[in-house]
Amino acid sequence: MTITPQEQPAFGNITIEDDRTGLDIETLRRAFADNLFYIQGKYPEIATLNDFYLALSYTVRDRLLQRWLNTVRTATLKSDVKVVCYLSAEFLLGPHLVNNLTNLGIYEPVRQAVEASGLNFQELVEQEEEPGLGNGGLGRLAACYMDSLSTLEVPAIGYGIRYEFGIFDQEIKDGWQVEITDKWLQNGNPWEIARPEAAVKVKFGGYTESYTDETGEYRVRWIPHQVVKGIPYDTPITGYKVNTVNTLRLWKAEAPESFNFQAFNLGDYYGAVDQKVVSENITKVLYPNDEPLQGKQLRLEQQFFFVSCSLQDMIRFHLQSGGSLETFHEKFAVQLNDTHPSIGVAELMRLLVDEQGIPWNKAWEITQKTFAYTNHTLLPEALEKWPVGLFGSLLPRHLEIIYEINRRFLEELQNTNGRDGGKISRLSLIDEAGERYIRMANLAGLGSHAINGVAELHTELLKQDTLRDFYELFPEKFSNKTNGVTPRRWIVENNPRLTQLISDKIGDNWITHLDELRKLEGLVDDPEFRDRWGQIKLEIKGDLANRIRQKVGVTVNPESLFDIQVKRIHEYKRQHLNVLHIITLYNRIKEDPDINIAPRTFIFGGKAAPGYFMAKLVIKLINSVGEVVNNDPDVRDRLKVVFIPDYNVTNSQMVYPAADLSEQISTAGKEASGTGNMKFSLNGALTIGTLDGANIEIREEVGEENFFLFGLTAEEVYQRKAEGYNPWDYYYGNPQLKAVIDAISSGYFSDGDSTLFQPLVDSLLHQDQYMLFADYQAYIDCQDRVSQVWRDRDLWLRMSILNTARSGKFSSDRAIREYCEEIWQAKAVPIELADYVQAQAGLSVKS
Ligand SMILES: *Cc1c(COP(=O)(O)O)cnc(C)c1O
Repeated sequence: MTITPQEQPAFGNITIEDDRTGLDIETLRRAFADNLFYIQGKYPEIATLNDFYLALSYTVRDRLLQRWLNTVRTATLKSDVKVVCYLSAEFLLGPHLVNNLTNLGIYEPVRQAVEASGLNFQELVEQEEEPGLGNGGLGRLAACYMDSLSTLEVPAIGYGIRYEFGIFDQEIKDGWQVEITDKWLQNGNPWEIARPEAAVKVKFGGYTESYTDETGEYRVRWIPHQVVKGIPYDTPITGYKVNTVNTLRLWKAEAPESFNFQAFNLGDYYGAVDQKVVSENITKVLYPNDEPLQGKQLRLEQQFFFVSCSLQDMIRFHLQSGGSLETFHEKFAVQLNDTHPSIGVAELMRLLVDEQGIPWNKAWEITQKTFAYTNHTLLPEALEKWPVGLFGSLLPRHLEIIYEINRRFLEELQNTNGRDGGKISRLSLIDEAGERYIRMANLAGLGSHAINGVAELHTELLKQDTLRDFYELFPEKFSNKTNGVTPRRWIVENNPRLTQLISDKIGDNWITHLDELRKLEGLVDDPEFRDRWGQIKLEIKGDLANRIRQKVGVTVNPESLFDIQVKRIHEYKRQHLNVLHIITLYNRIKEDPDINIAPRTFIFGGKAAPGYFMAKLVIKLINSVGEVVNNDPDVRDRLKVVFIPDYNVTNSQMVYPAADLSEQISTAGKEASGTGNMKFSLNGALTIGTLDGANIEIREEVGEENFFLFGLTAEEVYQRKAEGYNPWDYYYGNPQLKAVIDAISSGYFSDGDSTLFQPLVDSLLHQDQYMLFADYQAYIDCQDRVSQVWRDRDLWLRMSILNTARSGKFSSDRAIREYCEEIWQAKAVPIELADYVQAQAGLSVKS
C-alpha cells in the first residue's frame, strides 16, 4: 500500500464562494474587516494588533472549516474507516497562522488582503503566542506527526492535555535563566473550539468492591473519592494542499458540579471552592522536565486524566457509529508516545471489562491489538515507574487490574521459562527490589502489539539492553521507526528563500516527496546555483544577526561561520563540551593575538529544567564566557558567543536556516534520535557530531565526506566505563585541556570568583559521567578540520547543498508511512467536499 497526497490545487473544487470561503483578495479583505467588527467588536481605529491578528485568524479558520467538519464526519461516523489516535502528554505545535496559510495554499492572497487593508502582515503574524505544550523533541515529534497524518490524508486524532500554562518563557538576567509563566491563552485562542457537550467524567481515588451481576458473573465496581470533568478543546490540523483536516483534541479538567453551596451557606467559603480548585489543577501546568520526574502525584493525575478522557471518547465514537466493542481495534490504532499515556492499557481493560462487561481474555486481546508503544529513552533510570502506594491510592482499580495482568503473565512465563527467576523478575510489571513500583515501560510493552525505537541505533540498544528480556520474549513486536520532521514547517515556512530557489530548479513536488531533493545533486557543479545558495544563506544569517542585535545586544558578523547548538540544556547533550572548544580557541588567541583563525559566531539556545542546577550553571557559563570573549580587544571580533533567550518553535524557525554548522555532540548512546539534527541538515547546515541517534543515519545519507564525525562510539563509551574511566588522566595528560579547565576554575570568566563554576568543574574532574574529557581532543581536532573546510568556500557550499539534497529520508511523511503500513494498518481516506454544497442547496430548498 502506498499513500500519496492528493495533487491538485487546494481550492480547485470549491463551487460556492461567499465571505467565509472566498479567496479573491477583495473577498478576503472584506471578510477580515467583518470579523474585526462582528467577532472582535472593534472599529479599525481602536483595534489593537491582537484584535487584527484574531480577526485574521478567524478569516483563515472559516476557510478550513468545511474540510475539517467533513474530515471529522468521515473519521467518526464511518465504522469502516480506521482512525489513528496519537496519545501524547505533549504537543509542541508552534504558531498556527502561517502553517495553515501554507497548507491551505492561500498564503499570498491572504498576505495581500492584509496589506491592502493598510496593515503590516508580518506584524500580525508575530502577534501569535505559540502553544508551547511540550518540552522539546518528544512534543515536537507529536506535532510533526500530526502534520504528516493530515498531509497523507490518514484520519487521525491527536489526544493530549490543554495545559493552561505551557513550557515557561525564559529570560536571561545577569547570565542566569529566569522562568516566566507562559500565559499563552491570555489574549484568546482563535484556533480552538470548546466542545462542552462532549465532556466526559474521570474518577480518582476511593476503593473497589465486587458483586455478582444479573447473569451470575463476578464483577468489580470502582467507588471513587473524586470525579473530575474533562472538556475537549478541538484544534484543526491541516494537511498540505489536501482536504484532510484532522483534529487535535486537548482536555481541560473542571469540577463536575458548581460550588458546594451547602458549604457556602455555612460560611465555609474557601471549602466551597476547594473541590473546584483541586479539580482544575490537573491541567494547570506542563511539567518542565525533559526527563521524567519520579513520583509526582499530580503528574500521574495528568496522565490518567487525559488517557481516560480519550479512551472514553473513542468508545463513544465507536458505539455511536454502530460499531461493536469487539471490533474496537479495527476502528482505532492507538499510539503511546513514550510511557506517559501507558496507563491506557489498564484503563482500556477497566472500561471493557468493568463497564462494558466484556470477558477478560477478549478484552486483553482487544487491548493488545489496539495499542502500540514508542520508546524514547535508553537510560534505565529514566524509565517511568510509580510507587505502588501512591498508584493504588489514586487508581485502586487499575492497581488490581495490573496485578491481574501480571499474575497471568508471570504464570505463563513460569510455564515456559520456569528456571530463570532473574529474567521473570525483570519482566514483571512490578519492581520488587526495594520499595515496590509499577514499571510503566513493561506495562506498555506487554499491552501493545508493537514496540518501536526512534532511530536505528536506539532500537538496537533497546533490543540488546534496555528492553532485552521483552525482545527475547516477543521479538516480533519490535521495529525501528526513525523520527522525521515535517518539511512544511521546517523548510517551506522557515526558509522561504531556499524553498523558492529549490522549487525554481526542480519544481515543488519535493514538498510532499522529500526524496526528490536528490535532484539537487545534479546542480552542485553549477557555479551560479552554488553562488545563489551561498547568497541566500548569507541573507538569512543577516536576518538572524539583526535579530541578535535587537534581542541580545551583541553585534555578530554574518560572514563568520555560524556554529549553532540549540536544544534543551542537558549534560548528556554536552553544551559544555562546545564551551571547552570556545575557550580553547580563545586561549590560542591570547597566546598569539595575530594567529590566523576562521571567524566564528557561536550561537546557543535552550531551556534548562527549573530544578536542574547543573544545566542552569551551563547557561551561566556560556553567558560568562561570551561576556569575556565578546569584549576582549585581542579577539578583534573573530569570535562571538551569544545565547538566544527563550528557545521555542517560533524562535527556532529563524535559527535552523541560518546555521553553517550544526552541533550534535551528545555522548554516544544517550540521544535516542534527535530531530534538531534533521532540521539543520535539511536547511543546508553541515553537522559536527558523534555516532549517536539519527546522526548515524544522517551521515549515511549525506555521505561521510559531508559530515564531521568525532568521538567514541556507544560501544567504546560502554567499554571505557567498564575499564574504569578516570577523567584526571585526561586532565593531566592534555595541557590544552588543562589550561581550559584551569581558566574556568580560576574565576577568569567570573570576575575572579573561583567558586561559581566549581560544581561544574568538580563534576567533570571527579566523574565526567558524559565523558567530555575522553572526547575533548577528537572534538577539537574535528573543529579544526571544520575551520579548514570553511576556508574553501566552494567545497563548503557543495557539502551544504548535498546535505539538503540527501535529507529526504528525514521527512515525517516517510516516518508516518512506515507507522501506517507496519504498525497501524491505516490508510489514506480522501475527503470529499461536495456535502457542503448539498447542505447549502438543502437549506435553500427548505427556506
Ligand atoms: C526540534 C526542536 C527540539 C528538539 O531538538 P533536538 O536537537 O533534537 O534536541 C527542541 N525544541 C524545539 C523548539 C525544536 O524545534
